[in-house]
Amino acid sequence: MTTTTEATVSRPIADLDSDGLLGSFPGGPRLVGTKCDRCGRAMIGVRVVCSACVSTEVSRVELPTSGSLYTFTRLHVGGDGVRILGYVDLEGDVRTLADIRENGKSLQPGLQVELGVDGSNWFFAPVSGVNGGESDD
Ligand SMILES: [Zn+2]
Repeated sequence: MTTTTEATVSRPIADLDSDGLLGSFPGGPRLVGTKCDRCGRAMIGVRVVCSACVSTEVSRVELPTSGSLYTFTRLHVGGDGVRILGYVDLEGDVRTLADIRENGKSLQPGLQVELGVDGSNWFFAPVSGVNGGESDD
């Protein structure tokens, strides 16, 4: 007697297939994102699957260059400096971990920040002309 068993092997889906988040767009370097063509969810990075509805109908988009600082921390690294990391909420409901530069401003949650590019590095810094405080827009 022969028994045939068909096993379904699950394979991991490559969710994030880009190692760089900075891309070239007509307006200049921007963070690369993905937008779901089915549910409209925006995500950071190049994705092949929507993290909300699991659709594979997704498109590469450029993410907004401005957002608000959700929270941040200062990392004292070695003896020579401080690295500031923070979560930035971009317009369009995308939150990303990013290097934060103070540019002489006082950081606080809710502060409006914008993308800056320094060579191949990217960061967020307070929007020029903003002296801290929360914005209500
Ligand atoms: Zn979706």
